[in-house]
Amino acid sequence: MTKTVYTFGGDAPHDDPRQGDKTITGGKGANLAEMASIGLPVPPGFTITTEECLTYLAGEKGFSDGLRSAVADAVAHIERATGKRFGDASPDGPGPLLVSVRSGAAISMPGMMDTVLNLGLNDETVEGLAATSTDERFAWDSYRRFIQMYGDVVLGVNHGLFEEALEIVKEDNGYYADTELSAEEWRTLVDEYKSIVASELGEPFPQDPHEQLWGAIGAVFDSWDTERAKIYRRLNDIPHDMGTAVNVQAMVFGNMGDTSATGVAFTRDPSTGTRRYYGEYLINAQGEDVVAGIRTPQYLTKVAREEAGAKPLSMEEALPDAYGELARVFDLLEGHYKDMQDIEFTVERGKLWMLQTRTGKRTAKAALKMAVDMEGEGLITREEAVARIDPMALDQLLHPTLDPEAERNVLTKGLPASPGAAAGKIVLDADTAEQWANRGDKVILVRVETSPEDIHGMHAAQGILTARGGMTSHAAVVARGMGRPCVSGANGISIDRTERTLRIGSREMKEGDEVTLDGGTGEVMLGIVPTVDPELEGDFGVLMEWADALRRMRVRTNAETPEDCRMARSFGAEGIGLCRTEHMFFDASRIRAVRQMILAEDEAGRRGALDQLLPEQRADFAAIFETMAGLPCTIRLLDPPLHEFLPTQASEFEELADATGLGVDHLKRRAGELHEFNPMLGHRGCRLGITFPEIYEMQARAIFEAACNVKASSGEAPLPEIMIPLVATRRELELLRALVDRIADQVFEEKGIRLDYLVGTMIELPRAALMAGEIAEEGAFFSFGTNDLTQTTLGVSRDDAGRFLGPYVEKGIFARDPFVSLDIDGVGQLVEMAAENGRRVRPDIKLGICGEHGGDPASIAFCESVGLDYVSASPYRVPIARLAAAQAALKAREG
Ligand code: PEP
Ligand code: MG
Repeated sequence: MTKTVYTFGGDAPHDDPRQGDKTITGGKGANLAEMASIGLPVPPGFTITTEECLTYLAGEKGFSDGLRSAVADAVAHIERATGKRFGDASPDGPGPLLVSVRSGAAISMPGMMDTVLNLGLNDETVEGLAATSTDERFAWDSYRRFIQMYGDVVLGVNHGLFEEALEIVKEDNGYYADTELSAEEWRTLVDEYKSIVASELGEPFPQDPHEQLWGAIGAVFDSWDTERAKIYRRLNDIPHDMGTAVNVQAMVFGNMGDTSATGVAFTRDPSTGTRRYYGEYLINAQGEDVVAGIRTPQYLTKVAREEAGAKPLSMEEALPDAYGELARVFDLLEGHYKDMQDIEFTVERGKLWMLQTRTGKRTAKAALKMAVDMEGEGLITREEAVARIDPMALDQLLHPTLDPEAERNVLTKGLPASPGAAAGKIVLDADTAEQWANRGDKVILVRVETSPEDIHGMHAAQGILTARGGMTSHAAVVARGMGRPCVSGANGISIDRTERTLRIGSREMKEGDEVTLDGGTGEVMLGIVPTVDPELEGDFGVLMEWADALRRMRVRTNAETPEDCRMARSFGAEGIGLCRTEHMFFDASRIRAVRQMILAEDEAGRRGALDQLLPEQRADFAAIFETMAGLPCTIRLLDPPLHEFLPTQASEFEELADATGLGVDHLKRRAGELHEFNPMLGHRGCRLGITFPEIYEMQARAIFEAACNVKASSGEAPLPEIMIPLVATRRELELLRALVDRIADQVFEEKGIRLDYLVGTMIELPRAALMAGEIAEEGAFFSFGTNDLTQTTLGVSRDDAGRFLGPYVEKGIFARDPFVSLDIDGVGQLVEMAAENGRRVRPDIKLGICGEHGGDPASIAFCESVGLDYVSASPYRVPIARLAAAQAALKAREG
């Protein structure tokens, strides 16, 4: 029978490969078992598998007899290992067994799912705990924590009610910190908490530890399906059908006085990647106090404390023995997992316990530094270093940072929780952040502290600023994962949510005012501070060099301006894969000639207008050829339907009427004639070239004249690859290739210069993919236009899909938006078939992709698998594509 529960710690065996499989036991469960197996101090416990979660969520939300008896056995395992008993109230034994119940999915989702601590306490066991620990205060503090957490997470009581009751006690007594409450005061508060639960639910707080346990297990399972967890998964491309495991573990206590503590640590600095221990801890506290950002934690190391100029002692100073042990564990774990670890620990009366380890989230900058350093330290190979960087994370590095020379009016300073510069309008809640961002505003989300409910607002914002919370608070962890700059724990901020105003430092501000954050220094500045372009040397340069040495596919860019081309070259582009010439037509200075051309009644009228456009196009191409000297440049002839260039506003019609001398009515009639019901399937692409050959003739002439001029002036000939869009049949390409060849001959004759060029086609219609063999007879290259190919294969409009694709992804109809990541099963088949058939007919045919998918790592992996020669991506995606292509080549090599 398949096991549903796995034990760890104590004398638990660790020989079932399923226990090490994160898809079965979750990341936390697998790593707890692994830490226990290498002899680290892990409180004993057990893991209920993700399979049980899926069964529970799919059914009546009940528990099978099999699961109940497996859990009973596993509880007995913890009892044996600790010598304590669940529900034991006796005053002179080892004390009652209390457990924590935590989620743990295969891919970690920090803070998104539920946790219950101190489970097993009730009106009797609390007395037992008080007696056996000889610390009454600790026992009642633990009980109130339990009621509060269980009440909130399992019973659904608003946690604000508990917090209010606590605040009242603190205010009445003039206390600042929770630690100031006496045992008696906690005991009174427990009564208050119990009556809150009873009045909210109409029944008393559950006293039976077993009932408590099953309640908590069900709540953790249910938390897989909360809205915030779903949003997190969507934003992080985590499948919705994995489920979470549940980890039940003997409690160890960080709140047993001044020799107890709890903390979160990283084996290296997750912001910069520097090789030094990094973390925070709190004396006399439990884990959630650190993570929730309720108390501002203390530094782990003496160096960090001194650097920050902080007074409260670091763990290294306050608890030197436990710190020494922790440092030993850090090194062991890094050696074992060969990566930076993110750790949760507790010190109970001087003894260190490990509660979690996982591969730590990090900024892109830190990821690069760690990968390069670890290769240098001999911990990993060059291939592993390249394989380890998430290509999409590079995006964070490629964007500007604050100009160090720029003037800064610093309003306040917080903790540098996630690096990068962000500027925008202040918003005070997540919904407003999303609304304003949707209407095109750049926003900075400012909160007292963030909670998992804020996730959509954090994603919509350019940056996040919180008044409370440390470097490992929710805001910090989530922001780093998302690549959003974040400043946390900026004490100089106070927020008035009702008036929608705030004070930052000494300045009164309101929602909508502009600020800039520097997530690398923690500074918060007034207004928008100028930025500078990113530095692409150092670790970035080293890793990209390693990636380039490993990849097979070339990486080009989609660009049509010299600035974009320059940017793309600096990012490592090896040519242009798609120059959309229509973008050059849209330029304000030439739109008039374009409109004249479209509105002309006959060929002569069109040629007149095209003659005006020729020199401008030629200059455009010359600038591009100069920038991309010596590299292949794929230039696509005009693609979109002509009506897209026509005016829509009354004022534009009037302006055009003035310029052309044609009446507004005439112009409107002509625009009406050009109207199409389905322009995406209408008179566009090569259909324009077939019906109005003079347009393509002008473009071909501009390209060849520019190429000859650049060759003559620089001595370096560009390699033009002229691409015909939206081809469905061989004959279309045959006719248009002949047109291009004819113009090339004319220009070469006129200039007395010859140069190499290619004529090829986009494959962006299913028919073209099906007939690729015969189309290859006419074209020297294929470039897969997977935007249109996706649109036409799926019968889904690229412009309207946004309205319904969200639910399609949520319901698992598509794993991801097929316009972002290629539908490999469907559209991919057409690409593969066309590549094969094209190559059969023309073995040296050049194959590339220029749809948006050329910058998507999963789609790039597919391109490698079907043997394309290159991918082409927008300039900022070029480094992403270089790295993704290297990773794809590595995978292919591994087989
Ligand atoms: C495509 O269709 O994939 C393509 C690259 O062309 P466009 O996006 O310009 O239609
Ligand atoms: Mg297209």
